[in-house]
Amino acid sequence: MAELKIGSSVKIEYGDSAKIIKELGRGGQGIVYLVEYQGKKYALKWYFYDKLKEPNAFRQNLRNNIEDKSPSDNFLWPQYLTEGNQHGSFGYLMNVIPSNYVGLTDILNTYKIEKIAGTKEIRKVPVKFESLESVVNAAINIIIAFRELHRAGKSYQDLNDGGFYIDIKTGDILVCDCDNIAPDGENFGIGGMPGYMAPEIVRGIAKPDVQTDKYSLAVVLFKLLFRHDPLEGAKVLKSVCLHEGADLKHYGKEPVFIYDPNNKSNRPVIGVHDNAIKLWKVYPNYIKDAFIRSFTTGIQNPNHRIIENEWQKLFVRLRSNIIPCECGRVRFSNAYSYKDNIYICPACSSKFLSMQFGDVIIPMFAGQKLYKCFTAKGNYDFNTITATIVENKKHKGVMGIKNNTNETWKCTLPTGEVKELEPGKARALGRGMTIDFGKGVIAKL
Ligand SMILES: [Zn+2]
Repeated sequence: MAELKIGSSVKIEYGDSAKIIKELGRGGQGIVYLVEYQGKKYALKWYFYDKLKEPNAFRQNLRNNIEDKSPSDNFLWPQYLTEGNQHGSFGYLMNVIPSNYVGLTDILNTYKIEKIAGTKEIRKVPVKFESLESVVNAAINIIIAFRELHRAGKSYQDLNDGGFYIDIKTGDILVCDCDNIAPDGENFGIGGMPGYMAPEIVRGIAKPDVQTDKYSLAVVLFKLLFRHDPLEGAKVLKSVCLHEGADLKHYGKEPVFIYDPNNKSNRPVIGVHDNAIKLWKVYPNYIKDAFIRSFTTGIQNPNHRIIENEWQKLFVRLRSNIIPCECGRVRFSNAYSYKDNIYICPACSSKFLSMQFGDVIIPMFAGQKLYKCFTAKGNYDFNTITATIVENKKHKGVMGIKNNTNETWKCTLPTGEVKELEPGKARALGRGMTIDFGKGVIAKL
């Protein structure tokens, strides 16, 4: 095993050398060092050569990925390869993870371990998302990253919580460990992590590809929301210890989703799986239905797995369903009572008018935003804000919609009167009103 000495240098294929500053961490595949290269800090992943099944093919695949460039800014993509035949192995340079990003593993554990500066002691620091919106944003960003990767014809092959770093304030994400990414259908020996692997991989009848990525993506999203393993319930608990045979049974041959509506044998157990029990009640049905599909029909049939565009739609809808009430309560809209297009806060009885686009219902409150994917036909743009909801300055509690696009919308009042809503202008919202955003996109209030 070839470790690198602090202070030594490694030649980079592109030219010049990288100087080893310190070790950042190590895992089963190799060691990650902080290095300096051409005046900039990078992380160097340095492989345990003997652990690579096909080192030459693996190295060539890394080179191909470097040349293809990252499919989006959210990947900590390989940037430079070290020259071959140095210190008995090779590695690649990537950017260093910024300090405001926290590992998803730490987020799931609810704490991280930090060294106390100037001492050899360590301490536990609590880690948690700062808002519901940041959790949902993280989910959306993970989904988009994998959509872009799959669109580029590549698969990640080893999705697990160790591969994600997240800004807990904003939900911005970085996908790390990008060295197993390969063209769909190619595999250099990685199988994946237990609990995240698609059942067909656990059973040994398939290798990681885009379809198995989709299964693992559903597991990552489930853990992000429910803080629990989707297949770990009463049935798994009964098998006492999770030896290899039990893994094959519960995650490969007979996987049962903890909330499978047609099979109650693996429900979460009170006192053991409390996160899952508590959080399952928090999310609206359209989110729960997507996970039920993912872990029932989608578990057996890869073609039934949810595609990224659909996940994106669901989570953008979820983000718009967060209601911050005046009384300080911040919950998804399903935690409010709903009648005649109005949500009512169960704590303080505040009322929120809502806007309905087909089966998507969006509560209206000051600061709420509508995105292009809601107001433009067949659009997936969840970033461009096309309308903002503003409160009337003179009449507290009266909400208005402001048109941020260059198109004129038509508002039909309950009396039948039609008023234009021009670019940059705002108009008061009222029950019974409809808004025509053009091309057949009509919302009702
Ligand atoms: Zn309230």
